Amino acid sequence: MSDTPTTWLQSLPKVCLHDHLDGGLLPETMIELAQEIGHELPAEEPQALAAWFKQAADSRSLERYLETFEHTVALMQTAENLRRVAMEHVLTLAADGVIYGEVRWAPELHLTQGLSMAQAVEAVADGLMDGMEQVGQAGGRILVNQILCAMRHQNNSLEVVKTALAYRPLGVVGFDLAGPEDGFSAADHAEALDLAARHFLPVTLHAGEAYGLDSIRQALGAGRALRLGHGVRITEDITARTLAEIDPTGELLPDADREQTVLQLGEVAEWVKNRRTTLETCPCSNLQTDAAEHLDRVGLGLDFEPARSYEEHPVALLLQAGFAVTINPDNRLMSSTSMTREFAELARYHGFGLTEFFEVTLNAINGAFCSQDEKQALLRSVQMVYSQLALQEQEGESRVSGA
Ligand SMILES: [Zn+2]
Repeated sequence: MSDTPTTWLQSLPKVCLHDHLDGGLLPETMIELAQEIGHELPAEEPQALAAWFKQAADSRSLERYLETFEHTVALMQTAENLRRVAMEHVLTLAADGVIYGEVRWAPELHLTQGLSMAQAVEAVADGLMDGMEQVGQAGGRILVNQILCAMRHQNNSLEVVKTALAYRPLGVVGFDLAGPEDGFSAADHAEALDLAARHFLPVTLHAGEAYGLDSIRQALGAGRALRLGHGVRITEDITARTLAEIDPTGELLPDADREQTVLQLGEVAEWVKNRRTTLETCPCSNLQTDAAEHLDRVGLGLDFEPARSYEEHPVALLLQAGFAVTINPDNRLMSSTSMTREFAELARYHGFGLTEFFEVTLNAINGAFCSQDEKQALLRSVQMVYSQLALQEQEGESRVSGA
């Protein structure tokens, strides 16, 4: 199959729920900011720098992956720089076809030059506003809100939730726990999570990425998470059974193909599916950190074996199985990705077309932490574009699937 033209995919209206501010800097900007503050980068030319990030993130360990952030975070320690990075983030999203985004970041990592958490959040809010205004002046339309993260291995979560609550009027819409998952339980942040719950601040937690099903249990239990950051290890709670195994005597399903395989869900997977808990799936990122189970092994009860190519990622299986799958870039710089690239890979390796792109976009709108009025407006724009494209497809002008 030939490549799906990315210009077409780029123009699709997209909703992006899992995107890190410090994972999406432009290499050109990094070089400029690094020169200003005397920070030494691993490369001094934009292309070489982008390649270095990709390579470091390809090293297949979440810990190593997180190291790359030392360089980006070092450049985001002043209000001016935070504002610029946030503004450019919005422009990047708009160029990627995103009409609604939630950008997440951890204010506690940006205080080394004397900013308070509040000042840092205000700087990002200003930058996002600048970006949205610029997109508006150019005739486009985009809304980008903030999700504030606390680091799992630190003790700042209560302050982060308090800051998030205080800055709701400036577009802070949710709370997240990021950083090393294994050994750092969501329950360790019960005080912060309880405060968020008492004030009905929506929560999404990184869970089921670097650590398995237990982490998802904690996110849903202690965290009352409405969405799961990645959540891809939900596959550990899925069992593939043949009808012969389910109905050994053949009395229940006498006419069925006894070799047919069905997926049975455990209690966690059933909750996630039936309550429509949004899965913030980030396939490119998962391939770099070995987070996703190999598609061919899902449900077989074998030892964990990671997906190493897009084709092996279980994203399409999860969508088909009825989970509220959304598609996200996670860290544009480290994964050298974008929403458009993720869509292109899905078209190429999993046969996604208009129907699937529409479904994941609807899932993202449903899971978004913005207001219901904003969701209705997003839905109207998305429906308008997709119904026009569906009409064109019927008329034989399909540009999906490389046709
Ligand atoms: Zn993430």
